[in-house]
This record gives sequence, C-alpha cells and structure tokens, in this order.
Amino acid sequence: MGLHLTTHLPRVSAESLTGGAPIVVLAPHPDDESLGCGALLAHAFDTHGAHVVCMTDGSGSHPGSTDWPAERLAAMRWQELSHAIVRLGGMPTDMTWLGHPDGWLGTQDTDRIVADIVAICRGCGARHLFAPAPEDHHEDHRSTARIARRVAQAMPDLALFSYPVWSRWDDPDLLDHVAARHPVALDSRTWQARKRLAIAAHRTQRGLVIEDDPKGFSLPLDFIDAFAKEPEIFWRAA
Ligand SMILES: [Zn+2]
Repeated sequence: MGLHLTTHLPRVSAESLTGGAPIVVLAPHPDDESLGCGALLAHAFDTHGAHVVCMTDGSGSHPGSTDWPAERLAAMRWQELSHAIVRLGGMPTDMTWLGHPDGWLGTQDTDRIVADIVAICRGCGARHLFAPAPEDHHEDHRSTARIARRVAQAMPDLALFSYPVWSRWDDPDLLDHVAARHPVALDSRTWQARKRLAIAAHRTQRGLVIEDDPKGFSLPLDFIDAFAKEPEIFWRAA
C-alpha cells in the first residue's frame, strides 16, 4: 500500500484547503467522505462550514442479502452518513442525498446532477470543491470525478480538488501518476479521533449489521486504520 509515500509530500494547513469559505465534498457512496476527507471536514465544520453531497444511495454493497433489500439498505446508509457528519462536527442538514442507484451513477441524467451540485455550491458560497480522484477504479468514483469537472467548468471561480480513496489503497504508483498535479498532504492527527468515529458510523460497511450476505462488502480493518492515521491527500484537478 502506497500510503507511506505521503512522507515526501508537502504539508498544507486545513485552513488553506477551505479557501476561507464553506467547502463542498462529493462522496460517491456514504463512507467516502469520512475515509478521504474526514479530517478536512472536521476542520471545515469547526470554521467556515461544509456540505457533503452523497451521489448514490449505497444500496449495492450487499446484493446477496434478503434481509436487506436495496431500499432498506439505502435508508440505513442515509442514517449512517448523517451520524458520520454529526461525529465530524456537522449537522444532519449539512448533507444532500442525491440517491442515485449504487453502481449506476454513470447512467443517470448528468446535466441534472451537474445543475444540482452547481446550485449547492452557489447556495453555500463554496470556493473549493472536493471530488474523488479519477484514478479511483470504482465506476461511481470516476463518474463523480467527471461530474465534478463539469461543475468546475460551469463555475470558473470554484477550485476543484481531487482526493483518492481506492487508488490510494490499490495503486502503489498513484503519487507518481499524479506528480504533475503537485499533490499535498494534510496531517490529520488533530482530527483523528473524530475521523475514526465517523468511519465507524458506517456500520453496514464494517460487517456489523448484515448477517445474511457473507460475500457482501466489508471495509478491511487495515484499510480503515491506515485511512484514520495517515495524512489526507489532495491535488488540484486538471
Ligand atoms: Zn465509494
């Protein structure tokens, strides 16, 4: 895992990443916000404010469960995300649930999603927008990155930053691939306790809730631990 490579990245302050205004974070699924941006969000909630936009309903993590059909799982994941946001220092109203089908974001009405996010960014006066790295291999993450780019094109004063989730875990050469984007690291230790609690709020993703789908998704424990401890990584999107 390439996480240790962050020791060579320039450190930045959380304040510099907010742009002195509320930030907007796009999470393809409930949990991406806490894994990739938990420390930054905790700082933002303490200062200028933040808004999390969850793109999908998270209903695709346990397709083999009969106890937890998509609708029930989506409702639980909405609740888990609102708990995570409160644990980071926000309010349940600091999130927008777009509720698109998990795994199928790329097939939805992109123009409408872009318009929804532009309205949210304008509404809260954001100067910085955060979206998953296009290098993440999950299709919903890539779709979110494409949507974010279109939002930034529509709002020339909005700076778009990428944050890695899956690519940070499974691509040991990630930082080489994005070196031209000048990635920076945010030391998350100040907010580590809150970040850990926020990740832990996503109980369905930790194998603690759904018992009838042994093949369902579960966040690896070393993955959770690494994301909680290590600096967060950001770079300006191309
Ligand atoms: Zn995700």
